[in-house]
Amino acid sequence: MAPSHHSVIIIGTGPAGYTAAIYTSRANLSPLVFEGAQPGGQLTITTEVENFPGFKAGVMGPELMEEMRQQTLRFGTEIRSETVTAVDLGQRPFVVTTDDGSYTADALIIATGASAKWMGLGKDERLSRSGGGVSACATCDGFFFRGKEIAIVGGGDTALEEAMYLTKFASKVNLIHRRDQLRASKAMQERALKNEKIAFHWNKIVEDILTAEVETPMGDKLEKIRALKLKDTVNGSLSELPVEGLFVAIGHKPNTELFAGQLATDESGYLVVEKGSSRTSIPGVFACGDVQDHTYRQAITAAGSGCMAAIDAERWLAEQEG
Ligand code: NDP
Repeated sequence: MAPSHHSVIIIGTGPAGYTAAIYTSRANLSPLVFEGAQPGGQLTITTEVENFPGFKAGVMGPELMEEMRQQTLRFGTEIRSETVTAVDLGQRPFVVTTDDGSYTADALIIATGASAKWMGLGKDERLSRSGGGVSACATCDGFFFRGKEIAIVGGGDTALEEAMYLTKFASKVNLIHRRDQLRASKAMQERALKNEKIAFHWNKIVEDILTAEVETPMGDKLEKIRALKLKDTVNGSLSELPVEGLFVAIGHKPNTELFAGQLATDESGYLVVEKGSSRTSIPGVFACGDVQDHTYRQAITAAGSGCMAAIDAERWLAEQEG
């Protein structure tokens, strides 16, 4: 069967992807949107968003994304809950393959966002998937650690913000940072350093996650975190910190695996766009949101860049016809 053809395909449904969909659908381009593994993007794993203009009392992240989704549907956007597994940008029209089929597009808008980074131990990511007490999202999982002693790794704004949030649940939050100075903003540092439930462990990295096998209420065996093996970055000494939970907050990486070797990226893997536009290194392919932005990374800037990508795509398509 021939792949179904579309003027515009949008990959990703964070604020960037949805905004691109609103604009392109209102321009009668009938975009097809793939929402992938995390529909709604990173905002669906946050709680309250207080800085998105238009919501004077704040809005919950998942609610904001649902509003955006409904807004795209209102103008006739087609959203498919398929995960894109490959793209071929070497031919026109571009070919997009998903876990369910194959599609072609004249213009492609990439809004695949960024994902939380893991420490590279392997075990941290594995335990996060298996419910072993490791997480990269305090607002999603903090609740599970009520009255427990936990740890969080990182020294940026995210780590400090999440550490403070976690003190609402945990009996004690151990913040582990690889240096003796925090990267977070001064205001955030002042608040966190004042919080008596946060203990700071300076110059430490997590060398290993120590686990124990426990029995679940269903009688299954589950590998759960019981302690962290910490290494001092100054003198190399090892120590053990008993904790029942671990949060990893060491930054994000752009979701660009699909485009490796096809589109230009910077040294951190973010897609490179022409200054002041959403144009990537291939004409007809546009990028917006966190996949091309490691500076601002806000919902509102992602939405703004989604609008830029839609307008750039619309103009580019018109030029091809003319
Ligand atoms: P950052 O990149 O700012 O910080 C990452 C932290 O993790 C750093 O302290 C870094 O250490 C540490 N780290 C990185 N890799 C490792 C590793 N492999 N092992 C151990 N530690 C590691 O990321 P954030 O997510 O904190 O913030 C991203 C952006 O979002 C920033 O611009 C931030 O200001 C912003 N932000 C703003 C908020 C707000 O204003 N409310 C809230 C959250 C984020 P080192 O310092 O040594 O490099």
